[in-house]
Amino acid sequence: MTADLIDGKEFAASVRAKVAEHVATLKEVHGLTPGLAVVLVGEDPASQVYVRNKGKQTIECGMNSYEHKLSADTTQEDLLALLDQLNADPAVHGILVQLPLPGHLNEDLVINRIDPAKDVDGFHISNVGLLATGQKAMVPCTPLGCLMMLRDRHGSLSGMNAVVVGRSNIVGKPMGQLLLRDSCTVTIAHSRTKNIEEICKQADILVAAVGRPQMITGDWVKPGATVIDVGINRIDKPEGGTRLVGDVDFDSAAAVAGAITPVPGGVGPMTIACLLANTLTACCRANDLPEPEGLTA
Ligand code: NDP
Repeated sequence: MTADLIDGKEFAASVRAKVAEHVATLKEVHGLTPGLAVVLVGEDPASQVYVRNKGKQTIECGMNSYEHKLSADTTQEDLLALLDQLNADPAVHGILVQLPLPGHLNEDLVINRIDPAKDVDGFHISNVGLLATGQKAMVPCTPLGCLMMLRDRHGSLSGMNAVVVGRSNIVGKPMGQLLLRDSCTVTIAHSRTKNIEEICKQADILVAAVGRPQMITGDWVKPGATVIDVGINRIDKPEGGTRLVGDVDFDSAAAVAGAITPVPGGVGPMTIACLLANTLTACCRANDLPEPEGLTA
């Protein structure tokens, strides 16, 4: 391996430490404690683990965590009523509805009921529009985490050629918008893109958010490029059992790239860290206080 390893675990710990420091100051100087409300509908085991981790890390950073666990047969009206209540609660600065929701609930309607100023996932249509028009938005956590790692590595991203593989609303598109905002020349590739390998090979920054195990191999990577692997895929091990891999074939890509994130331990840990950062930012904005430096887009 010739590439530098971008250690997301270590980076996420430094983001959490910055958040905790800022929260301590907010408490001391302004008597304010940021609060994050997480709403979980149903009993999906993976979602339960995510919600538990989010709550634990929120408290560890000195913020208040409010968990609302609703049964799988919760009606749309009841869920919307809870969101109205959280929107009106001044102790709640961030609201996150854990996705996916059970099939009878309309995700768009639910997400767009959250006050955009409290939408710490950045999925509300107003935040999508604000980001696309270069205005102050709440930015989705996973792409924000990728951006922080890229800025840390390169300083200015201006003029760099960036290729994002994947055009989902939660990762690919907002990632493209953030890179554009940092003055990269951005290409967003997807399943219908022609000559995708050649396009990727032009990238100074290559972000993979596809959901296909180890699809991007070393011969897609420009020598010296920075490769950010968002993918989380579980594959079978030849000796039995399973393991997590990214969308990038780590070994072959790391032999060509200048820097690369591993899976696990790359982008994954940054996502919750950025959720905490967004909650802090939302609290500062709600109280007309300066935003925490280095924790926003
Ligand atoms: P989606 O399934 O919503 O989107 C996948 C995108 O990849 C689509 O735009 C699709 O194109 C594109 N794609 C699929 N196959 C190909 C192909 N053969 N060539 C080129 N493009 C292709 O996934 P998400 O964006 O939600 O997630 C992507 C990955 O990131 C997943 O592995 C997911 O688990 C992971 N993830 C990790 C997070 C973290 O915290 N680290 C957070 C969120 C996601 P098209 O639109 O044309 O169908």
